[in-house]
Amino acid sequence: MVKNELLVNPKLKVGLEIHQQLDSKNKLFCNCKIIDSTEYDFTFKRNLRPTQSEMGSYDQAALFESKKIKTVKYQSSKYSNCLVESDDEPPHMINKEALDIVLTIALALHCAIEDELHVMRKIVIDGSNTTGFQRTILVGRNGFLDVDGIRVGVQSICLEEDAARIINGSNTGKHNSNNKDNKVYSLDRLGIPLIEIALAPISNSPTFIANVAQTIGRLLRTTKKVARGVGSIRQDVNISVDNGPVVEVKGVQQLSQLALVIEYETKRQDGLNQIAKELRKHVINDTKIMDSVTDVTESLKKSSSKVVKKILGDDNSRFIVFVLRGFKGMLSFEPYSGIRLGKELGELVKTYGIGGIFHSDELPNYGISSEDVNSISSILKMDKNDAFVLVGGSAVLLNIVVFELANRIKKCFSGVVPETRSVRFDGNTVFSRPRPGSSRMYPETDIPYISIDSIKLKELSKNIPQPWNVVIQQICDKYSINKTLAENIFDSQYFSLFEKIVSQTSISPSFIISKLTEDLVSLEREGYDSSILTQELLFYLFMQLNNSKISKESISIILEKLLKREINTIDEAIKSFGTESITEDFVDDTINIIINENKLIISQKGFDAVGLLMGRCMAVLRGKIDGEKVSKILQTKLMEHIKTSKDKNM
Ligand SMILES: [Zn+2]
Repeated sequence: MVKNELLVNPKLKVGLEIHQQLDSKNKLFCNCKIIDSTEYDFTFKRNLRPTQSEMGSYDQAALFESKKIKTVKYQSSKYSNCLVESDDEPPHMINKEALDIVLTIALALHCAIEDELHVMRKIVIDGSNTTGFQRTILVGRNGFLDVDGIRVGVQSICLEEDAARIINGSNTGKHNSNNKDNKVYSLDRLGIPLIEIALAPISNSPTFIANVAQTIGRLLRTTKKVARGVGSIRQDVNISVDNGPVVEVKGVQQLSQLALVIEYETKRQDGLNQIAKELRKHVINDTKIMDSVTDVTESLKKSSSKVVKKILGDDNSRFIVFVLRGFKGMLSFEPYSGIRLGKELGELVKTYGIGGIFHSDELPNYGISSEDVNSISSILKMDKNDAFVLVGGSAVLLNIVVFELANRIKKCFSGVVPETRSVRFDGNTVFSRPRPGSSRMYPETDIPYISIDSIKLKELSKNIPQPWNVVIQQICDKYSINKTLAENIFDSQYFSLFEKIVSQTSISPSFIISKLTEDLVSLEREGYDSSILTQELLFYLFMQLNNSKISKESISIILEKLLKREINTIDEAIKSFGTESITEDFVDDTINIIINENKLIISQKGFDAVGLLMGRCMAVLRGKIDGEKVSKILQTKLMEHIKTSKDKNM
């Protein structure tokens, strides 16, 4: 282990919240099966209103959401939903199977288990629950785990119901004003049991924190009671620097993203603090920074900018501009690459479905000419140290957006703003909403509490899984494979598929693993979505190899072609790549031709030319016939060829 990796960064504090779907037969509060639905039998709409908590206060995040979305549409399938999900029937008793899994994991993480389990309602404001709240049960507290010799605290473990799955209208998406009132959710995911593990804040390197997440993920997988595959594990990451406000990044799905997210947020937050410092130097009077809010629609109608024209194409669209006194240069000031105030303001307006902002530090640009800029500057009576922000969109939205921009700009002077952000594939984060306040929980009255006694816990502690290294060693021994292969397959979503293939075919375990892990991972890195390959399809593929319908070499090619959607089924692949698609004569002819074409090289190199010839043969035959067979035939033919040419020369 590299010692430097563990050097504590005193500025960074990271709290991880890990959400993992449980592999339970049924949902948490009803008997519905857990299946993905793509066809729906029933659709209904609900209006979103900000919910008052028991304390009577409105949540800031709830108010923010309510300004944007008016109605939400839910799609329900008879195969994955009943009346509980649509909130037309009270929740049933808690799913005992799911509870036992969470209790076992809480015991494995050395938590103190609660004597009484109470179902609580946690306010949810984005429409992802039909009820307006998510049910959650605190199961254990104050546990720990050891990672690289360092003890990490487990604050709490909860059993929760998963939220509905958004189908469109995600607020991190592109400008789409038509859909702003209409989020659409599928109810198939609503109510799936989840375990939530909240860790105590960690002050350490991003790599160490990723190790912690990996260790927890592996512990969960050794129980063999957790769901696998895309979206089944999600991490919320709470990040602060220099004891500043906490920023919550939601929905990190991949371990490889986690360290990137932490690195990006550290830069962004430190960058915002540097910007604040600069602002305090430049801006003399921070009580009167933003003024002259002016409608410049008429003036911009003369602009030849395509972006401006497009926005003004809508009948109700306006352009509003305002001055920021003393802000010149500050909107594009970039303490780290990509970290700018202008970008932060742009992200804020995008959550309202407005494309972005224009500001004076970056203009003229986007077809907005220096004449346009000068005319705006003179309307605003700007001073040489001032900047302006220009924003265009529907008149109704602009009223709210300008107010929100003013709020955000006031907060620039204190640096980091506590907020919830979403994650992009590259690990960068994007503003999604203000952080919810703490007044979010109240008791669920429809479900009685559950007592947990020591006999039950004693029974469950027998199910605590073996440590990771023991589990991996057992897999190594069982399948005669090395540790890396064992870890790769057990970490992947294909472990049970792998076991099934091995038990029903005579294909070597290490070959199956290399195809299911390395090959698929490298195709994913090229940007292909491997989730279109179902377990049934992959199983059928290996069965066809076992039946000699296809060659070993063709597996990689077929996987690639399936992901590139060049073919749709394995049977289609067999037709063009199957072992029956070519005759032995064709193989013989191909090899003969290649030997003939390369006579000169063979006369110089002799049998050493075999590697080169093999490459040329496989360029034609790859995927159609087993490489080993080609190699055998080629060697025989080459020997013959060398022998006959020698005979001729004698
Ligand atoms: Zn149900």
